[in-house]
Amino acid sequence: MLGLNSCSTKAQQFCGFLCTFAAKHPNLQPPVNLIQRAHYHTQRTAIKDESGSYTYGQLLQQSGALASMLLQEQPHLQETRVAFLCMPGFGYVAAQWAVWRAGGIAVPLSAHHPLPEINYILHNCGATVLLYEPVFETLLAPVLAAGVLRAVCLPASMVPASGNTRLPFVLPKQKALILYTSGTTGKPKGVVLTHLNLEAQIMPLIDAWQWQPDDYILHTLPLHHTHGIVNALCCALWQGACCHFLPAFDAAAVWRAFLQLPVTLFMGVPAMYQKLITYYWQQPQPMQQLLSAACSKLRLMVSGSAALPVNVLQTFRQISGHTLLERYGMTEIGMALSNPYKGERLPGLVGKPLPGGVTVRITDENNHPLPDGETGELQVKGDAVFLEYWQNPEATRQAFTPDGWFKTGDMVQVQEGNYRIAGRISTDIIKTGGYKVSAPEIEEMLRNNPYIADCAVVAIPHEQWGEAVSAAVVLNTLQLPVPVSEMAAFLRQWCKTQMATYKTPVNWLFLDQLPRNAMGKIVKPHLKQLFLKQNEG
Ligand code: AMP
Repeated sequence: MLGLNSCSTKAQQFCGFLCTFAAKHPNLQPPVNLIQRAHYHTQRTAIKDESGSYTYGQLLQQSGALASMLLQEQPHLQETRVAFLCMPGFGYVAAQWAVWRAGGIAVPLSAHHPLPEINYILHNCGATVLLYEPVFETLLAPVLAAGVLRAVCLPASMVPASGNTRLPFVLPKQKALILYTSGTTGKPKGVVLTHLNLEAQIMPLIDAWQWQPDDYILHTLPLHHTHGIVNALCCALWQGACCHFLPAFDAAAVWRAFLQLPVTLFMGVPAMYQKLITYYWQQPQPMQQLLSAACSKLRLMVSGSAALPVNVLQTFRQISGHTLLERYGMTEIGMALSNPYKGERLPGLVGKPLPGGVTVRITDENNHPLPDGETGELQVKGDAVFLEYWQNPEATRQAFTPDGWFKTGDMVQVQEGNYRIAGRISTDIIKTGGYKVSAPEIEEMLRNNPYIADCAVVAIPHEQWGEAVSAAVVLNTLQLPVPVSEMAAFLRQWCKTQMATYKTPVNWLFLDQLPRNAMGKIVKPHLKQLFLKQNEG
């Protein structure tokens, strides 16, 4: 058997050879490296899900059979958009690989999305084929009844290998994936990623987080988003590791999996870690000890997609022994900044630029680079950066500087080489009375108050100050020092002892929970509407 490292080196050499070969011989083997590499570990377990356990060989067989079914005698799908709606598991991965192997663009849909959003995506990307699992037939009934798309219900079991399937050659520069961005602001846009982009997003993570073929990732992230698709799923499959899917995130099920399965890696958004903490504290002490021991066996736990509150990092460290590795990235660029795998992970910071996929810089509003220490926009260039917004040349043009840097829209600051995210330019930087204040910074300070369980800060238009700092708060279940109706005044008083007066929230809103999207990100435009309604009333 090949050694673990020689396995990946040999696979890389082979893939390099394939690319050269393919350039000379179009119409032969598909060179999607992620898929080619699977031939090196056909006997290893690729996927585990509720229905069973599947090897890389079975994944190749199933995706090959589905690819020929998609092709229907055509030689190549030629970037046809194929939308698919599957449960997290083998069926999802086989469908995604089938689209790629047939030369199509995969457009993953989410069961978290209500039908109007699914319709929006199908319409926006111009999908002509829809793959779905039987469990989604009811949800999709109106789409299926409209009869506009070629709808294919996916088989629940393995399709026998046809033997003589001839799959097309797929160029690395071909479009592979359209991901619709989270939609915390504006209408979702389709981010187009090529096979080359995906590889450039995967490879730096393999090195940085030291993925190994014997890794075992517990996957509970949504599969229509970069975090779940690229960081968790594609990295595992690139390295010949095992990806174990749970149907959805559930704190009890995750802890159970840590107890019972040989999990080495876990990736989550901060809200998931918060839920793991809450569940942990609800357990009797002997069980807490078991959970802590189970968790300490993992080699890496990663947090991203939203800012990791320092108190969550600290509490999770206390119960698990893990200092969560916080990283920063975006659907459009993959991961750009990461705390180290080995070495100190700094609370509240997202680490340093990841070598490989992207180069980064910080600029002022005129796209001029700024010196270290100054707060400015993070801009990114490199192979990992997406190709375009689907059929939206104006949005694509606006997203890049004239010399080709992608404007992330995130304000950052470098402190001794490590990056701090100061917030989104559009929603998180509040201009109040001439001061520029960072909403995440205020949120971090508010979380230090024992009566605040969760919070989000937004800007609300204000006659005098331009914008008013406004805090939406979920109160803790602790006994409050004053009635809820007086908590705003109480917290405002407390804030004045903690932060500059101009940062102290003017408007307060008390909610049972904050509005979040499928990725656990707070939907700030929705919050703003709630504030505006409160102010009207
Ligand atoms: P998405 O494309 O849905 O992954 O969203 C990307 C956005 O999430 C970034 O532009 C940031 O605003 C935010 N984000 C991702 N990771 C972090 C992080 N570690 N800290 C703060 N914000 C983050």
